[in-house]
Amino acid sequence: MSDSAAVAAAGERRWIAQALGRLRQEAARSADTHLLKLGFAGFPGIDFYFKDEAAHPTGSLKHRLARSLYLYALCNGRLRAGQPVVDASSGSTAISEAWFARLLGLEFTAVMPACTAPRKIADVEALGGRCELVQDPARVHERAAAHAAAGACHLDQFGLAERATDWRGNNNIAESILGQLAGEPHPEPAWIVCGVGTGGTSATIGRYLRYRGLGTRLCAAEPTGSAYVHGWRSRDRGAVCSRPTVIEGIGRPRVEPGFLFEIVDEVVEVDDAASIAAMAVLEQHLGRRYGGSSGTNLAACLELATRMRERDERGSIVSLLCDPGERYDGTLSDPDWLRRNGLDPAPAAAALRATIASGRWHPPESV
Ligand SMILES: *Cc1c(COP(=O)(O)O)cnc(C)c1O
Repeated sequence: MSDSAAVAAAGERRWIAQALGRLRQEAARSADTHLLKLGFAGFPGIDFYFKDEAAHPTGSLKHRLARSLYLYALCNGRLRAGQPVVDASSGSTAISEAWFARLLGLEFTAVMPACTAPRKIADVEALGGRCELVQDPARVHERAAAHAAAGACHLDQFGLAERATDWRGNNNIAESILGQLAGEPHPEPAWIVCGVGTGGTSATIGRYLRYRGLGTRLCAAEPTGSAYVHGWRSRDRGAVCSRPTVIEGIGRPRVEPGFLFEIVDEVVEVDDAASIAAMAVLEQHLGRRYGGSSGTNLAACLELATRMRERDERGSIVSLLCDPGERYDGTLSDPDWLRRNGLDPAPAAAALRATIASGRWHPPESV
């Protein structure tokens, strides 16, 4: 190596060390997210816990993913000083990635479908990120790859979510939950329930449960007819969705590489109307608003709880609050928008209330 190349390489390593230092400082400034406890009248002996991932500085569980993706890119020598950063994201990931790009002094571009909620676009831009809107949602990966070919670092949430997080520990979401449950009546949950977008969260939780030798089962809460529902049942990675969904962050149209069939024990389907109805139930019980996928999680938790009750089982069920409800003011929380999209959450809301009161499962069409 020439002297000047050696000097450049040493400068590069210094920058990586500084960037890692900044990420460490950010982690040290951030608190752990709360594990909120709920009980429902119809389910005596079953404790519900919700990990409030909306409490992260960038408002969603993607804060963890974005931190992991930057660490992974830096430690793999894929991200260098001054290099622009790109990813394909429908919103929450882009917000968190833009935030970390600003922290590291890097330019960030989010490639997103043109139909993304305007509020999320504004959030990315407010953090100094650039949004490139693509009409055909199926082409976002292609656009991100084109940026990478031109020299950008592709954070690649869908390709790397499953491997970027330290699944054995480092206070990943699973280690944090189980630590917070240590003093509770049922410290080893019967179920942990989460939706699947990149598959990163379910991969981390599923692996950690096995690593710790726990009997806790992992349930994926998914919009009815999503690719993961079909793919998991048939073990077919080529599966596609049979129904679109309005719930952002989950219910992918295709099986992403980060979704690991083997560590998911059950998949519960939730209709969009029920997910939206469940957002209101969460607000009523927690006094705060959360997004659509948090509603999907609650609906799936209640279905699992009715099965536990039928068998007279006691125990705890843990799930996640993924992002804040305010992000959906112009969509899922707007009655006009719901009407325009042919969605009426009222029957599902009545069914959920009946389930909560009785402990028996009331399908939305039954009430
Ligand atoms: C990404 C996301 C999920 C799913 O999490 P993954 O780890 O990507 O599978 C759920 N809800 C929201 C709001 C999300 O942004």
